[in-house]
Amino acid sequence: MEKKNIDWSNIGFGYVKTDKRYVSNFKDGAWDQGVLTEDDTVVISECAGVLQYAQTIFEGLKAYTTEDGRIVCFRPDLNASRLADSARRLEMPVFPEDRFIEAVVETVKANEAYVPPYGSGATLYIRPYMFGSNPVIGVKPASEYQFRVFTTPVGPYFKGGAKPITIKVSDFDRAAPHGTGHIKAGLNYAMSLHAIVTAHAEGYDENMYLDAGTRTKVEETGGANFLFVTKDGKVVTPKSSSILPSITRRSLMYVAKEYLGLETEEREVFLSELDDFAECGLCGTAAVISPVGKIVDHGREICFASGMEKMGPVTQKLYDTLTGIQMGRLEAPEGWIKEIV
Ligand SMILES: *Cc1c(COP(=O)(O)O)cnc(C)c1O
Repeated sequence: MEKKNIDWSNIGFGYVKTDKRYVSNFKDGAWDQGVLTEDDTVVISECAGVLQYAQTIFEGLKAYTTEDGRIVCFRPDLNASRLADSARRLEMPVFPEDRFIEAVVETVKANEAYVPPYGSGATLYIRPYMFGSNPVIGVKPASEYQFRVFTTPVGPYFKGGAKPITIKVSDFDRAAPHGTGHIKAGLNYAMSLHAIVTAHAEGYDENMYLDAGTRTKVEETGGANFLFVTKDGKVVTPKSSSILPSITRRSLMYVAKEYLGLETEEREVFLSELDDFAECGLCGTAAVISPVGKIVDHGREICFASGMEKMGPVTQKLYDTLTGIQMGRLEAPEGWIKEIV
């Protein structure tokens, strides 16, 4: 397989059109068999449910080349079941979980020439998504849907090493109690755009959202979960029913306990206790872990002992272990690595 002539270590994190994408349509109560197509456009009614009432959900995962030259992706079964959960919450039909994995595998295979080589730091980002496609003007769920999977090569998330970031405690809320914070829906992102543009304009890298009910507890950022490390080395992650259940976070908590022998705890984390932590990181598919150096709560600065130059030691171990498992340098738990080629 001849790779595309791409400068893998300098491509950045943007959309690059690849050769093939997967499309399946839901109509009259059933999904069709699905096809790979070269057509990168979507033609739908001006009144489509997704355009009027934002009935759309998505997933994100990566394919990459391991040390021994296989092309794999990481725990796609969890993306499949999370998309199914998102679909149920937005009254959309579930795309069968086994077919989700097949669609991901087929799409990556068809774009094998775009999977970056081992060691480049780049990966092939995979975006499965689904939206209501038929006309809907009275408020109700669409009756027709489209499920698609496209891929795009993305560069190393951190060029020249991961520098700790600074986070603002946001005055905006991300998710309501009993709302949609726990599903991966476009609507959760649309309403976060003003908050992130505001934070960037003020010089912050990200927002920390609090629980909307009491505004005393840590939830997450716009697109990544928090991990904290206590001064005695315990790994803590916030527990809340309005946090999106990150696959990276769940994997890191397992790695902390089973590979590194650390104590782990998923519990409510109060804004008032942040000073007690030694390290902080954000976790998600894109970066695995981004180290956080500082959190600013309306003038009160919380500076972690790990500083603004590098990841804290526990965060670094977590990062090295999980990326080692992903890249095939360390043995993976049963079922974590899905081989594609
Ligand atoms: C996708 C997402 C994450 C990260 O989840 P991963 O499965 O680890 O990629 C975290 N928070 C939000 C709000 C997300 O949408």
